[in-house]
Amino acid sequence: MADCNETLRELDRFLDNELASEVLGEMMEHLDQCVDCQQAFEFHAELRAVVKKAAGDEPLPDSLLGRIKQCFGTDLTVDTDQA
Ligand SMILES: [Zn+2]
Repeated sequence: MADCNETLRELDRFLDNELASEVLGEMMEHLDQCVDCQQAFEFHAELRAVVKKAAGDEPLPDSLLGRIKQCFGTDLTVDTDQA
C-alpha cells in the first residue's frame, strides 16, 4: 500500500506515465483518500503544464528543474505530519 511519501516520490513518474500498472493502482487508491496528495498531485500537474507551455519544445535547464523540484519537495516533506 502506497503511503504519502511513496506517492509523492513517484509523482514525477506518474505524470510521465512511467509507472507499472500495479504501482499506478496503488497510487490512485491512495490519491482517492488522501487530500494532501491530491493537492500535491494537482499542483504538480499544473506546474508541469505551465513549465511545458513556457518552455515550448526546448528542454528546461537542469538548474531550473532542480529548483522547482527542490522547492516542491522540501515544502511537502516539511509539512507532512505523521498523523
Ligand atoms: Zn497521501
